[in-house]
This record gives sequence, C-alpha cells and structure tokens, in this order.
Amino acid sequence: MSSAVELQSEPNVIELCTLPGADPAAAIAALRPLVGEAAGAGEADAERLAAHLVSLARTYSTEPFTPLEAARHGLGVERPEFRRLLDAFGRIPQLRTAVERGPAGKYWTNTVLPVERTGALDAALNGKPAFPNSVGLYPGPTCMFRCHFCVRVTGAKYEASSVAGGNEMFASIIDEVPLDNPQLMYLSGGLEPLTNPGLGELITRAARRGLKLTLYTNSFALTEQTLARQPGIWDVHAIRTSLYGLNDEEYQATTTKRAAFSRVKKNLLRFQELRQERPDAPRLGFSYIILPGRAHRLLDLVDHIAELNAAAPDRPLEFLTLREDYSGRPDGKLPAAERAQMQEALAAFDEKVRALTPTLYVDYGYALESQRMGVDAELLRIRPETMRPTAHPQVAVQVDLLGDVYLYREAGFPDLKGADRYIAGRVTPDTSLAEVVERFVTERRAVEPMPGDEYFLDGYDQVINARLNQMTADVAAGWADVRGFLR
Ligand code: SF4
Repeated sequence: MSSAVELQSEPNVIELCTLPGADPAAAIAALRPLVGEAAGAGEADAERLAAHLVSLARTYSTEPFTPLEAARHGLGVERPEFRRLLDAFGRIPQLRTAVERGPAGKYWTNTVLPVERTGALDAALNGKPAFPNSVGLYPGPTCMFRCHFCVRVTGAKYEASSVAGGNEMFASIIDEVPLDNPQLMYLSGGLEPLTNPGLGELITRAARRGLKLTLYTNSFALTEQTLARQPGIWDVHAIRTSLYGLNDEEYQATTTKRAAFSRVKKNLLRFQELRQERPDAPRLGFSYIILPGRAHRLLDLVDHIAELNAAAPDRPLEFLTLREDYSGRPDGKLPAAERAQMQEALAAFDEKVRALTPTLYVDYGYALESQRMGVDAELLRIRPETMRPTAHPQVAVQVDLLGDVYLYREAGFPDLKGADRYIAGRVTPDTSLAEVVERFVTERRAVEPMPGDEYFLDGYDQVINARLNQMTADVAAGWADVRGFLR
C-alpha cells in the first residue's frame, strides 16, 4: 500500500470504528474528506468509498486472516475499485489503527506484524531458506508433573546419558544464532527445562552473546539449592512460570503432584527475596490458563501475585499471560452464560489488578482480549487440510535434547506418536541448525498432514499457518503486491 499522507481528521471516531457498539455512520462521515484527498474522489464517490473502508476495517479487525478476494466479494466491488480502496486504506493511518485496536487486534500486534517486519513470512511463502526467527530450545530430559492436558507420553523421557551431548549441541546453536534479534531464542519444553543440570551454563553462554532468553518453567525445581548449583540461571532475561492452580488441591487435580502449589509458592517467595538483592535479576511472571468454570479464580490470582510482590516490594512481578482453555469446545465458542461470567470476571480482575498490582503487565492473548470487549472470539481452527506440508521453519523451530529440529511447538516430546514426521533434521557436530533448515527448505521437503496432526501446532503456530494460507491465497488471486492486507 502507498505511504500515509498527513491528513486532518477526527481520529477517534475512525480509530474506534471497529469496537463493539461503535457508530459506523460517524466514522464514515469523518472519513469522507480524508477519502476525497487519499483517493482523489468526488463527493458522491467519497461517501461510497468511506463506507467500504469502514467495512474493510471491521472485517480485518475481527477476521484478520480473510483472503483479499473474500473481502472484495463481501463488499461486492470489482477489482479496480477494490484496488482503489486498498490504496486509500494504506494512506489513512487511522484505519490501520482501527484494525489493530479491534477485537482481534492482538493477532496483528502480537504476532503477525512483528513477524512480517522480519521478512520470515516472505521467506516461508517463497520457499527461501532463512535462519528461523524464533528458536525454542527444549533442554528438559524429564518432568516431575503429569498435567492432564499435556500431550506428553506418560513415562517417556530422555536418557540421562543424552544430557551432556545435548548441552554441547545446544551450546553450538547458541553460538550460531545471528545477533540482530536478541529475543530470538527461548527455553521451554517439551519437558521441564529445570530438570537439566547444565541449564545455568547454557543461559550464561547465551547471555554473554547478548541473547535475552525467556525460561518457561513450572518452577517446582526453582529452589535455592538449584540456584546455588546453577548460578547461571540468574543470567536469564525472564522466567515465566506456568501456574496450574492457586492451591494444592487445584494443582494436584491438574498436575497429579501433591503439595505442589505450596512448593512452587515457597520457591517463588524465596526467589523474590533473592531478586530484591540483585538489580539485574530476571524479570518474573506467570502464565495462567483459565480452566472452564474457573474464571472467578482470577481474583485469587491477583492476591497470589500481591503476596509475592510483598516479599520484594521493590521488585513486583512484571508480567502475566492469561489464556483460556478451549480444548473442550470444538467450535471455539463459549456458551452465553459462561461468556457473561467470563466478561464479568475479567472486569473484576482488571479492577483488582489496578488496585493491588498496578505495575503488572497483563497479556490477555487473542481470545480473551476480544471477550473483554464483549465479542465472542472464534479461535483459529487449523485442520489437517489447512496445514501446510512445508510448515514454516523460517519463522520458528524447536530443538530437543537429541538435536532433533521440530517444525511445530507441541511436537517436541519424546515418543509422541506421529511427531517424528515433523522433525526437519538433526543438529549434530557436523550439521548446524542453519544447515538443517536450509536442507529442509531447498530440498522442498514436505510432510503430508494426517488427522490429529493439527494438535502439534500451538496457538502461535496456528496464527503463522493461517497467515501463510492467507498470503498464498492473495498471491494466487493476483494481489501479490498487497498480500496479507496489513504488513
Ligand atoms: S504441561 Fe509442562 S509441567 Fe505439565 S506435564 Fe507437561 S511438560 Fe510437565
């Protein structure tokens, strides 16, 4: 799209036109003079174009992965008129803001637009090799929990004897990653990263290269003893603890481990005290999944965070990622009563956060953000037919202890049935990660999806998959220069 032009306007009406309850007529009226200038339209034309532009903004603010041809048919316009609309849209920045602030805006601002800027999506679309824009290291040989929703195969783990070689392999990847994006790498699983006794050394190695790693952990092993044995853990940029409940009973129901909440809480309280003494200590936060019927627990979650903050008043927890469990809802929708409950709970939660933990950054994710706005979010549902056999290793890969490079984030578990088909190759002393990806891409390797394979994709993979499908459709329909609507 063309570059933006400086225009006078009533930005709020236009920028807010995608919110539930907004008045499209007011936005159209505010847009008319801008359209006249941006599209060189006369008065009659400007009215029609302004209405179409508001409609486009609303479409892409709720269904960001709509192919351009579907949007064009929705408006009932011919290609030249559609071209004119896309051009005008690109020249009026308030419309872009309206899309980004709309109910599905987080898809754009959290994932699509940042990845667009790296060029990784173009590389994936065009089958060109590129170093992955996101590299997950999965260093945990085992896990002490057995969460009911986890795809992990019970009892499956990596041999202890694979740890030393695995850590050498991870070190080689740390040494090989380009340094233009310090946030490129993270530590997660797969299994629990803190079960790897060499984790601290890997973290220090990465920190020395300037990499800002986030560690995803259940924090059961984040004890003072672990920190004493592995002081390198202090060099990590952020620790994100997955929280599985707010008392021992809830934890046991989810993880099957007894007294686990008490232990994790004790670890984090001590970690907070130690953090207080170290100005450069890692950022700390939680990931919390709202299980069905447990929206009311959000208020107790704020109390829990406030309690941890009290242990280190100068270092309150920095972030919280909230997600909702949709696994039991095949259409991705909440029943009306539950939706109302959720909206109410989110509002009360918001208020309590402002009162008790005002510095906490809360990331509501794609779906909860729109529910806060009172819109029922439909989750992306990638199916085997819409999975891409070439996947997207230019955008993201995950590497386990054996050096196997997985194409999807939920595939990197030992012995998981069918997951080995999603191994792009293996990092070895003779083969770097860049070479594994390059071979997979240049040899045009492809994995034919089978029923059930969609579960190997996590929410991020699904967004990337949907975006690439949209881009492919746009290019095929002759809209290559404007593919993807916003970028
Ligand atoms: S979800 Fe995480 S903590 Fe739970 S069993 Fe799976 S790997 Fe372990």
